[in-house]
Parts: sequence; structure tokens; C-alpha cells
Amino acid sequence: MSDAAPPSRRALACRDLGFACEWQIRSASPSEIESRFREHARCAHGLSALPPELAERVTSELRTA
Ligand SMILES: [Zn+2]
Repeated sequence: MSDAAPPSRRALACRDLGFACEWQIRSASPSEIESRFREHARCAHGLSALPPELAERVTSELRTA
């Protein structure tokens, strides 16, 4: 019963942002998560830049995670 994420770790799942995709990341660093997600979005979903509303959802997911 120890695999629940400690509160200091943040997680982001692509699926939670509306993509049919299993990619997810967990890290203690929100800024690392955001930059990794940007890279993933570009490589896997062809988004060379995140649309502002998507970037905002990433930020709010990281705040509440
Ligand atoms: Zn994805």
C-alpha cells in the first residue's frame, strides 16, 4: 500500500488533457513535467506549440495534483 504518490510529487496524464493517449509523467518538478509534456505533445501529437487553453489546463492540473 505504498505506491500512492506522496503529495510533493506531481503527475500529469495526457489522457486527462483530452488525448486518447497513455503517456503520463510523474515528477517532483512541475516545470520538468511541463517541459516534458511540451516535448511529448510536439513529437506524439504534432503540436509545435501548446494552444493557450491547453497550456492553462496543464498548469491547473499541476497545481491540483
Ligand atoms: Zn499524448
